[in-house]
Amino acid sequence: MVKYNSENISSKVNWTGKIISIQPRTRVWRYLTDNRTHYHLGYNLFIEGQSSDYKKQFTVAISEKQQLKGLFRIGDLLEGTAWTKKYNEKEFADYYRAGSLKLLDRVNETIEVLSPPWIMVPPTMQIYEERGARLLSKSLWKTKCFKCIWANMANVEIQWDFDRNIKKYRFESFCYGPKSCKNYKMGRPRTVPYKNRGSALDDGYLDELCTEGRDEND
Ligand code: SF4
Repeated sequence: MVKYNSENISSKVNWTGKIISIQPRTRVWRYLTDNRTHYHLGYNLFIEGQSSDYKKQFTVAISEKQQLKGLFRIGDLLEGTAWTKKYNEKEFADYYRAGSLKLLDRVNETIEVLSPPWIMVPPTMQIYEERGARLLSKSLWKTKCFKCIWANMANVEIQWDFDRNIKKYRFESFCYGPKSCKNYKMGRPRTVPYKNRGSALDDGYLDELCTEGRDEND
């Protein structure tokens, strides 16, 4: 079921502010515990600043092409345009279809070497895709992991009824970082509901499949 925002329309905004985190933007399709597929769409810029609809902290979705061109990183002061989201349940970012991106100042030229968290220019979508993700505790995502390039808040769609193609939506936190990261905690197992039956449980089993291509320290 999709709830619409109050007006169910998208409007253009201008925004400016400092990047406080940059993470991959993804969509995850879930079907019981048999399938968890991650699609890598671009990046989410978490911004502290100002937007023309009066937000002071907001998230802007940008494309991979925009990121490759600007090589944005934490500390950058940016301005741009974007559109408000239509469907609150489907999209974590506040704004998408960003445009006219302009770097106003780059204070953070040096790359932090002390990790975790990994604070640097994030890798390409292909790298995220190849690495695969594990469940990450939501409270860690909000705190110790927030600035890490491997942290991710995914737009999740759960296939709730295959025959009528009905989906349910929510957001889930994941980690693409090294399995040996000392900050890592999986958090609670996640239920995956399906029509007319008890929920299945994603208890980390799928993490092994999703990240089978790398070992502890990759
Ligand atoms: S647990 Fe994952 S997201 Fe958090 S600091 Fe470690 S690698 Fe980064």
